[in-house]
Amino acid sequence: MKTLIFGHKNPDTDTICSAMALSLFLGDKTQAVRLGKLNKETEFVLNYIGEGAPELLENVEDNQDVILVDHNEFGQSINNIEKANILAVYDHHRIANFKCVNPITIDIRPVGCTATVLYDKFKDNITKTMAHLMLSAIISDTLLFKSPTCTDRDIEVAKILEKIAELNLNTYGMEMLEAGSSLDSYKTIELLDIDTKEFKTDNGYYSVGQINTVDLEKTLLMRETELLIEMKKRVDDKNFDAFLFVITDILNSNSEVILVGEHSELIASKFKKELKNSKITLDGVVSRKKQIVPNL
Ligand code: MG
Ligand code: MG
Ligand code: MG
Repeated sequence: MKTLIFGHKNPDTDTICSAMALSLFLGDKTQAVRLGKLNKETEFVLNYIGEGAPELLENVEDNQDVILVDHNEFGQSINNIEKANILAVYDHHRIANFKCVNPITIDIRPVGCTATVLYDKFKDNITKTMAHLMLSAIISDTLLFKSPTCTDRDIEVAKILEKIAELNLNTYGMEMLEAGSSLDSYKTIELLDIDTKEFKTDNGYYSVGQINTVDLEKTLLMRETELLIEMKKRVDDKNFDAFLFVITDILNSNSEVILVGEHSELIASKFKKELKNSKITLDGVVSRKKQIVPNL
């Protein structure tokens, strides 16, 4: 049985591309899989290089060998992950709600992207395809180096990968991010599933979704009522203490956050904001991991 490699649910470009790159590094005994629908940005990347999407998987069998990339929290992972045999984790997030039975390889670094961790681990024998996958992941997670999660190492690695991939980082990066921010083809409900993660903290159980846009007004104003209704439904269904939906303007590096659930006021106050029509505006906030989740 092959070792399955996968990232989080509601996959983003890092989750898909790092799983694929790692499988190329480790060879035939491994297979990259995905836990959900590709987003537009990742579709753009795979179309660009003519690679098919990894197979969709909804749960793992007991004792299946797996390697996790770009996440470790079980709440963000595949169904039945508790019973799988986790061999390794390559990631760049906080460690939480994770456990394993046997000693395993864990490489989690405070960098902007899983692909940067993989580069530093496997830097020999990087092919053009691998470089393209990893570069795309770095551009995506760091918003082309604009996110506060971006480190000097991410930039250095991206510049090396740019040469191997034979791409112009800035031109390709803008094209890729723009492909990802075109939200017109999504139904409003689908917006909530593009990039939404669950977090359990000492204070409560939260869901935090994020989308990137270059047209905040259009994305938010036209869909606000519908978004609120669907968010309330999910809060009731899953008993979240709050659901935060972060709409990030990638041109101006600001976010509008829609908040639903009992802890909404409390969370707004942690950002020193008052809730207005279930919303707060956060200037200079683009990173869920670094600027949102620590306040939960
Ligand atoms: Mg990710
Ligand atoms: Mg990532
Ligand atoms: Mg992300």
